[in-house]
Amino acid sequence: MGRKKEKFVPIKRGEVKLYSCGPTVYDFPHIGNLRAYVFVDLLKRVLEYNKLRVKHVMNITDVGHLTSDADTGEDKMEKGARREGKTVWEIAEFYTKDFFDAMDKLNIEKPKTICKATDHIKEMIDMIKQIEKNGFAYKTSDGIYFDTFKLKDYGKLAGLYIEGLKEGARVEPNLEKRNPTDFALWKISPKDQKRQMEWNSPWNIGFPGWHIECSAMSIKYLGEKFDIHTGGVDHVPVHHTNEIAQSQGALKKDVVNYWLHNEHVLVDNKKMSKSLQNFYTLHDIENKNFNPLAFRYLLLTSHYRSKFNFTWESLEAAQKSLNTLREHMILLKSTDNKKTDKKRILEYKKKFLGFINDDLNIPYAVSLTWKLIREESKINNSDKHKIIMDFDKIFGLKLKDVKDVKSKIPKEAEKLINEREEARKKRDWKKADEIRKKLKEMNILIEDTESGVKWRLI
Ligand code: AMP
Ligand code: ZN
Repeated sequence: MGRKKEKFVPIKRGEVKLYSCGPTVYDFPHIGNLRAYVFVDLLKRVLEYNKLRVKHVMNITDVGHLTSDADTGEDKMEKGARREGKTVWEIAEFYTKDFFDAMDKLNIEKPKTICKATDHIKEMIDMIKQIEKNGFAYKTSDGIYFDTFKLKDYGKLAGLYIEGLKEGARVEPNLEKRNPTDFALWKISPKDQKRQMEWNSPWNIGFPGWHIECSAMSIKYLGEKFDIHTGGVDHVPVHHTNEIAQSQGALKKDVVNYWLHNEHVLVDNKKMSKSLQNFYTLHDIENKNFNPLAFRYLLLTSHYRSKFNFTWESLEAAQKSLNTLREHMILLKSTDNKKTDKKRILEYKKKFLGFINDDLNIPYAVSLTWKLIREESKINNSDKHKIIMDFDKIFGLKLKDVKDVKSKIPKEAEKLINEREEARKKRDWKKADEIRKKLKEMNILIEDTESGVKWRLI
């Protein structure tokens, strides 16, 4: 809110209440969306590294997010269901699972509380009633809207100049809206259309507006004052601005102490988005034989508040760096008889803490790790190994799982490679492919070359 770096002071000593806007589960998440959750994961790990207990809540948007942020267009969920000839509930379940799978693959720790919008309709209706009682809502033929001009400081998060927006009112398609920035709290189901998701309410059968779910659920699980709220920067001018309006409307106060937003992933210098059709998913990354953790590594090398232009070349480089890092972890296991200067260890740890606590300067923390690896004297191998394992509590690159498969392939994998050779000789391509998949799950990639079958670590 202050648009500057501020010292973080938790409301309750030793504890952080954190709310993250979750995904809209109508399609596969793209890697831009996933940046938002790697960012939150890093934030949480940094807070925990500082010995703070984190109470983390994330929602799943399974109703009410329309194709246009301006309360027009179709519900993304209903659109997704039609596209696939399934029910909205099936779509929600399928893509929620896919999102959770992506979180696992990227080693993102799951929030303790994950709440679905459709399980909280009552809480949303109660909050809208409160807003209405306090005089901030009005009814139109298609819903209940929030009167944003009734708030003196509407738009303060985004720095919106509300008077200037009156000009825009002339081109507003919804003529019943009093002001261009007004937004729907509850939408009444269209008479000529049967929605799959709709509920009774004091204002007629319908469904909640998109913003009310995050206000209602964050307050339910974290209380009327909590520490941090996160999301992508696209949420600043609309979704989060309207969440602030709603808590002002219902409770006459702000509920969030700090807002943190991640910048976008771009492709060809344009925002990666479903509507522009310029997106990649984690499945695309895996299909090109990259380890999802290579994508995590790539994200570690850019600061969350910087725009990040994605290219396959940069992912290739990240995969190489990750492989090299893992190889170093194996090498560092072999002891040397160097004597460690304990002061030097403390210096590294202090620097690391300084970087991560400076608004999550993870790129610098990564560089520091490489510096430590290259450091010629003063720290012996096993101490280097220990320090990097400690750093990995933040990076989350699963460095403790690294095994020496390069020099010694596991017995099980060796057996599979031989079985695959047999299958290929018998022209049983199906079996050969299945084995290739199994090996890939073990992070081993098979390549058939002229000089025979080769494998490498991914
Ligand atoms: P959605 O599923 O559309 O509700 O978005 C989920 C999260 O991804 C939100 O926090 C968005 O702000 C964020 N987001 C959307 N597009 C991008 C992008 N290209 N780069 C980074 N974050 C994004
Ligand atoms: Zn939200």
